[in-house]
Amino acid sequence: MTDLESSHNLIQRYQGVKAEVEALAKQHDQAVALLAVSKKHPCESIAAIYQQGQRCFGENYVQEGVDKVNALKELDIQWHFIGPIQSNKTRLVSEHFSWVHTIDRDKIAQRLNDQRPAHLPALNVLIQVNISDQDSKSGISLNDIPALAEMINQQPNLTLRGLMCIPAPQDEAQLKNEFTAMHQAYEKLKQQYAQVDTLSMGMSGDLELAIACGSNMVRVGTAIFGQRI
Ligand SMILES: *Cc1c(COP(=O)(O)O)cnc(C)c1O
Repeated sequence: MTDLESSHNLIQRYQGVKAEVEALAKQHDQAVALLAVSKKHPCESIAAIYQQGQRCFGENYVQEGVDKVNALKELDIQWHFIGPIQSNKTRLVSEHFSWVHTIDRDKIAQRLNDQRPAHLPALNVLIQVNISDQDSKSGISLNDIPALAEMINQQPNLTLRGLMCIPAPQDEAQLKNEFTAMHQAYEKLKQQYAQVDTLSMGMSGDLELAIACGSNMVRVGTAIFGQRI
């Protein structure tokens, strides 16, 4: 494939996903934000989607994300960090991103708060919930949300915006139960904290079900950018 053909395909895929998300949003009478997950894809692809109007991009790996933020700083992009964070990487994340979706312990929240540069607005954060209760996975249980939410709410340089999950691969009925449980937890959190407005759930393979269950931010990589290499 020539570069021109692959850029054309990229734009077609992006427009297709965007139209699908808009149609589902309308069907369920709610606004749904599309986060383009650009991990393992080059800056040229990000710039091409940006030209089509996309502003929110998600990255998983700290160094790769920071390199892209720096390379594309002339563009008006809102960068979301959606990967696991080790404590020795919090400073880079806090200095370069506007949002973090993967807060699952006090220590990381504290460091992100303390390391947020004074000239930047508060960092928007989501609590990651281990909704499928997977041993190996990041995230907290539903029962532990209130304590972490309260801790985050006390940090001047963090704004608690909501919840995020990455369910295990499983059958649709079980997935629906988990998305529904997330939505209930989100509604409860919203009642407690007025600024909470984001439920980040749904990826390329399950965005339709996620939106049907109340998601208002889907994180889409493959369906826009193609397979990662
Ligand atoms: C990679 C990734 C995505 C995007 O996944 P696709 O299946 O490629 O759409 C979304 N969220 C997180 C946390 C990811 O790591």
